[in-house]
Amino acid sequence: MDGSILIVDDVATNRIVLKAKLSAARYHPILAASGSDGLRMARQDPPDLIMLDLRLPDMSGIEVLTTLRADPLTRNIPVIVLSATTSLQDRLDAFAAGADEVFPKPCPDGILLARVRNLLRGQQELAALNETRHDGVFGLAEEAPAFQPPGVLAIVTDRKDVALRLRRDLAPLMRDQIISLGTADALGDPDTPQAVPDIYLVDGATDPAGEWGRRLLSDLRSRGPTRNAAICLMARRDGVGGEAGMAFDLGANDIIDPSMGPPEMVARLRTILRRKRLADKRRETVQDGLRLAVIDPVTGLHNRRYGLARLTTMVQEHANRQQPIAVIIADLDHFKQVNDRFGHAAGDHVLVEVARALQGDLRQQDLLARLGGEEFLIALPDTRLQEAGLIAQRLRLRLEQHPIRLATGKNVQVTASFGLAVVEESTAATRHEAEHLALELIEEADTALLSAKATGRNMVIIARKDVA
Ligand code: GH3
Ligand code: MG
Ligand code: MG
Repeated sequence: MDGSILIVDDVATNRIVLKAKLSAARYHPILAASGSDGLRMARQDPPDLIMLDLRLPDMSGIEVLTTLRADPLTRNIPVIVLSATTSLQDRLDAFAAGADEVFPKPCPDGILLARVRNLLRGQQELAALNETRHDGVFGLAEEAPAFQPPGVLAIVTDRKDVALRLRRDLAPLMRDQIISLGTADALGDPDTPQAVPDIYLVDGATDPAGEWGRRLLSDLRSRGPTRNAAICLMARRDGVGGEAGMAFDLGANDIIDPSMGPPEMVARLRTILRRKRLADKRRETVQDGLRLAVIDPVTGLHNRRYGLARLTTMVQEHANRQQPIAVIIADLDHFKQVNDRFGHAAGDHVLVEVARALQGDLRQQDLLARLGGEEFLIALPDTRLQEAGLIAQRLRLRLEQHPIRLATGKNVQVTASFGLAVVEESTAATRHEAEHLALELIEEADTALLSAKATGRNMVIIARKDVA
């Protein structure tokens, strides 16, 4: 993200003036003189922000916006609409078509540049969430939510009359739930966590120091539970001292002027809710991605990658304490036949049940991971050879004696073969040495497993020698 801003305006002087302002602020303005040029350029090399004139010779700004919002490439680029008229209908149309901000022309530099910074920062945060995603798998499914469930709007003010009036004005125009909070309640009681609203609408004039709710804004922004909520400040946009600009820089998602009519307020709140939901969605996807990186989706056990890393850590810790550690690899016997006879879904079900059975028989400090296919890794800290052998036998018997019930009602008996290796003492102090030893243990256990398979399956074989 390099701060590229596409200016779409048919009047040359408008373009040049804007370009000069943005260049001076170290952005990279790109110019388009018509709607079709603008659209082409936006698709070719999507900018970080677009400033769009409402009246263009070849098509209306609304059409340009609608086209931008329909294209996955440009759907989420923030757009500031500049309107020569001050018509309310123009502004409402622009918001309905997907504008993030509508300014009259000419717009004072202070608030314009503050809004540019503000929208670009929001965009950067969104992009950062994107980078941590595991791309490709999630990318396409993410966008264009089909249905937006109602959100929760919290009006934050100590003036009862303001709360009442806003609620009366806004409620008929939105399906979202509206609640009122006093400024002291807005941050919530950490001991009684409650659902965080989607949007806080903070009454700027409520602040006793006349600081336009800035303190509250920073507090909401910096606290864990509320940091991802959208926050709107209700304050005059043309107030003396550039309060509006400051609020944008503090991370307000919008500033709602008390003189705006309820329809424009609602249009702005709706826009904010849409962006907030997009960020929520991305955050969820990141969480899922992080979880998938360590968890096997079929069984819910740790996956191979996590299993190896965890075993390495165990080995390292146990080398320091000179405690034995046992590694068992279990592989289901003739599992292919389960799939062949009952189908793949039944096979998956068996894997889940086996995972559950093994897990139920292990201690909390033991590691159980799915190495892949029908192969499981078990690591037992502080466990000597003899004891580990008994545990492996116990696990083996448990599978043998507890047939698994399939969805069809049929029972299948599954057995597994076990290979076991133990390190009693080691000097693997560094991460690298520990990793080496962990892999050696696995290899030994694997070799033992192979001889269990060769000797008749459903048995435990212990590696001949202690790995050291
Ligand atoms: P052996 O006793 O020698 O281990 O025989 P096996 O059939 O268990 O071993 P083989 O390695 O020949 O086949 C393993 C089978 O496991 C093949 C594959 O279809 C199945 N499998 C691997 N992963 C999954 C999975 O996630 N779900 C299901 N249902 N089956 C899987
Ligand atoms: Mg097998
Ligand atoms: Mg196998």
